[in-house]
Amino acid sequence: MEIKFLGGAGEVGRSGILVRDEKNILLDYGVKIDEGEEYPIDAGDIDACVISHAHLDHSGYAPHVYSKGMPEMFATDPTIKLSELLIEDSIKIHKKKHMHPHFHREQLKTMLNRYTPCDYGERYPLGRFDISMYDAGHICGSAVTLVEKQNNGRRLVYTGDFKIEQQLLEGGAEIVKSDILILESTYAAGEHPDREEQMKRLAEEVRETVDNGGVALVPVFAVGRSQEMLALMNRYGLIDRTYIDGMAKAATEIVEQYPDYVKNRELLDGGIRKAQWISNPRNRDYALEGGSVVLTTSGMLNGGPVLDYITRLNRNSKIFITGYQVDGTNGKRLLEGKPLNIDGREYRVRHPVSMYDFSAHAGKSDLHRYVKESSPETVICVHGSAENTALLAGDLRMEGFDARAPSVGEVIELGSL
Ligand SMILES: [Zn+2]
Ligand SMILES: [Zn+2]
Repeated sequence: MEIKFLGGAGEVGRSGILVRDEKNILLDYGVKIDEGEEYPIDAGDIDACVISHAHLDHSGYAPHVYSKGMPEMFATDPTIKLSELLIEDSIKIHKKKHMHPHFHREQLKTMLNRYTPCDYGERYPLGRFDISMYDAGHICGSAVTLVEKQNNGRRLVYTGDFKIEQQLLEGGAEIVKSDILILESTYAAGEHPDREEQMKRLAEEVRETVDNGGVALVPVFAVGRSQEMLALMNRYGLIDRTYIDGMAKAATEIVEQYPDYVKNRELLDGGIRKAQWISNPRNRDYALEGGSVVLTTSGMLNGGPVLDYITRLNRNSKIFITGYQVDGTNGKRLLEGKPLNIDGREYRVRHPVSMYDFSAHAGKSDLHRYVKESSPETVICVHGSAENTALLAGDLRMEGFDARAPSVGEVIELGSL
């Protein structure tokens, strides 16, 4: 067996891992979005593609595999519906920006027709392998993928993005036993602060802003953070003053259809019922009058209604960043005190900005915990900066694991699974 890293190795974004054995199995196929877009290396002929979760850095390039072949597709139901939403949106953005399309709606349709909806814990045969998915605790429908050889029970596990610790709407990742473990490494260098504390502090600060007549503007990623913030505003009694706008709405409507994949679903259901949904841009005026919380996309301020809101805030308003901001995005520029780029024009934000850590990824000690309890022979660290993947692999080697930190284009040979 050999594993080729098509993207997302020594970097975050454009994840793509090709497992070549009796079958060629592609694990994720995403895009990297910063100032432009980057794509993974061509996958060649594959028998199957497995999508770990809907975020575009894992799913955004998947339709491309249908420009040449007809591989099978495995994903959970929410993952396929949520990635359809995000990929459709990326096709629209490509058209709007006159960017060269790497696939068309037709390929996306084929992908939707070719997929096997996977339930957590079930086995789905692929030749002499079984594919199974387990809860990754990252976002709705996210999965840890197990590829198991039927005759000898050898197991390759790909974590995708995961979190062991519970989130408001996520029950935490399952730890799956493995012989070969492909592990995300985003936060290999640090721990996250206490989540309860972050939630409480955010709610307090939002309440203060709202009570002062300001707008508490919370830019959110459509999938994951939008739903979590809705539930949070509900939990802390702020939901009556909360508005939701942009693609956050469509994503929330999809998540609502999968109650079995949501922890604390009554918190989310109540949030959905009680929040005000902005159905047309003119209604934004109400939200902008103040004394309100606005949850809107995009989470990194690179497009969407958030850019309209941010230029129209009253003086008591405040901006709350709750998600990771990639270098080169408006969100990162905001945190650095630099002017934003809105439709080619510079815009300087004068309102205060608060930053919170609501990461949906495992911190350092949980990465180590996953490896120990999964107990593989070989660990391959991906989905992290070159510095972080090397650091994690180094630490794991000291603990006696055969640990590697490949870069994009590299092939690791491992004997038969
Ligand atoms: Zn993710
Ligand atoms: Zn990711």
